[in-house]
Amino acid sequence: MRSLVISSLCFLSGLSSLVSGASVPRYFESQPTTRRNLTSQEVRRELGSQVSPGTLIYGPGDAEFANLTSRWTDFSKPDVRVVIEPAAESDVSTIVKYCNHNSIDFLAIGGGHGLAYSLKKFSGLQISMRQLNNITIQGSGKSAWFGGGTVVGPVIQYLYDRGYVTTTGGCECVGMLGAGLGGGHGRYEGLYGLISDNILQLRVVLADGSAIVVSKSSHSDLFWAMRGAGHNFGIVTSYEMNIFPVGPKTWHWHNYIWRGEQLETVFGALNAFHNNGSTPVNMAFEAGNFLMDTSITSEEPVLYWTFAYRGPADEAEKLLAPFNAIDAVSSTMGDVPYSQIATAQGTSWDSAICQHGLVHVTSSVFLQVFNVTTERQIFEGFKRRAQSSPALAAGSSIMHEGYSTEAVDKIDPASSAYPFRGDHHLTLFNAVAPSPDYEAAARAWAAEVRDQWIAGQPGRKLDAYVNYANGMETVPDWYGHESWRIERLKSLKAKYDPYNRFRYYNPIIAA
Ligand SMILES: Cc1cc2nc3c(=O)[nH]c(=O)nc-3n(C[C@H](O)[C@H](O)[C@H](O)COP(=O)(O)OP(=O)(O)OC[C@H]3O[C@@H](n4cnc5c(N)ncnc54)[C@H](O)[C@@H]3O)c2cc1C
Repeated sequence: MRSLVISSLCFLSGLSSLVSGASVPRYFESQPTTRRNLTSQEVRRELGSQVSPGTLIYGPGDAEFANLTSRWTDFSKPDVRVVIEPAAESDVSTIVKYCNHNSIDFLAIGGGHGLAYSLKKFSGLQISMRQLNNITIQGSGKSAWFGGGTVVGPVIQYLYDRGYVTTTGGCECVGMLGAGLGGGHGRYEGLYGLISDNILQLRVVLADGSAIVVSKSSHSDLFWAMRGAGHNFGIVTSYEMNIFPVGPKTWHWHNYIWRGEQLETVFGALNAFHNNGSTPVNMAFEAGNFLMDTSITSEEPVLYWTFAYRGPADEAEKLLAPFNAIDAVSSTMGDVPYSQIATAQGTSWDSAICQHGLVHVTSSVFLQVFNVTTERQIFEGFKRRAQSSPALAAGSSIMHEGYSTEAVDKIDPASSAYPFRGDHHLTLFNAVAPSPDYEAAARAWAAEVRDQWIAGQPGRKLDAYVNYANGMETVPDWYGHESWRIERLKSLKAKYDPYNRFRYYNPIIAA
């Protein structure tokens, strides 16, 4: 049951100033009398009366609290004391000002899939954006406004039903902004770029609670930062993005399962197929996992691969001929409207990857090409775990993604804070620890695979896509190895968030 009740609020933020010696603005001053022991009655009275009527406030005693605070991974679960769901954009300013006034830390939440370990340091008030989920297509048919709580699946469906598409993440369950503020990779990036490349303007609530418009012509310095490092700068209450006509009637998908003995052939074919970043633009997305399928073998993982082509089967199958030539345990295909391609590829709401509440231990490295020798080493490491620790191996997967990247590559890398346009393959090591006893082994395995991927690309540094990074990398690993990027981001932090209120998602300035 939704309610307007807060059970307890006994926490203080650890405001850390980026401006040593500067005077503290009024809105960040601590109360002369401590608010540590605020009661739920006080909060209800003080905040409940300031926000719009549909705003919902939950405490741990409320039935929905567990659902609202559930996460994709409990490995980096923030400590949420109170959840607020603003009903109007203006409520977000009110909530942030209230938190500042009472020295309470706050965290905006979209789809709840953030996996950065830094989230675990958070203790405070969660601003759940899910009520801000409206979408308004503009009269021109060239752009739409989206609420700050929109999630990929409903965005795809809403636009598709009206004859449009836009750039989104590939998984239906991911928040548009959780992904988009860090770039946002998905099936339309080869044609139209990342989510962030298509954002035209954003309404942002800054750390002091003020609401501003951020675009090429308004706070253009912040517009640069919001597109790649946006989690560090404000809460987006709504945003305008490019939209595009829906395109071909169907997408072709083809899923394969290969045995481990085919690994070298598969990765050789993948490297030729992507040809160092020149994947045909309609060959939108392939993703492959090493994972256990004991109906095939319990000795070692299998290679599960899925391809999605924007267009008819005959065009796609010509490009897939090298993969059709590899002896497969299983090969299935079909043609579906764009709105169903996530289901065909196992990335829809009800697919296993979207479920909440497990302990995922992850690591990730961005690659330009696959090193076949490295992939064999990684596979053999998985095979060893299949034998020595079957319970850990059972829930684990090692993912390799390949997008067509033409539109991403065409954009000037200096034009936004997204730093890794030259990279082509996202990877994700993802072990599910069945109990806390397995966490240390999962961590060691995650580090081992990350190190293997890095060693397999000599001379290149660790590029960790900020949204796949596990939070144990460095700031340049997330935001770029060019020193000017980090200097620019730090100076924008000093300007727009001088007291580092936004410091829980792979922070530019550590908490
Ligand atoms: C199963 C799975 C599938 C994924 N698929 C993709 C994919 O296809 N493409 C891709 O690029 N990434 C993908 N990711 C990575 C994903 O982009 C990040 O995990 C992202 O943080 C998830 O966003 P969220 O809104 O779901 O998570 P949340 O945990 O709700 O949000 C993550 C962070 O985003 C910030 N945030 C959220 N909403 C707002 C807002 N309105 N204003 C300001 N800040 C906000 C907050 O800092 C928050 O901590 C995937 C991750 C998982 C676990």
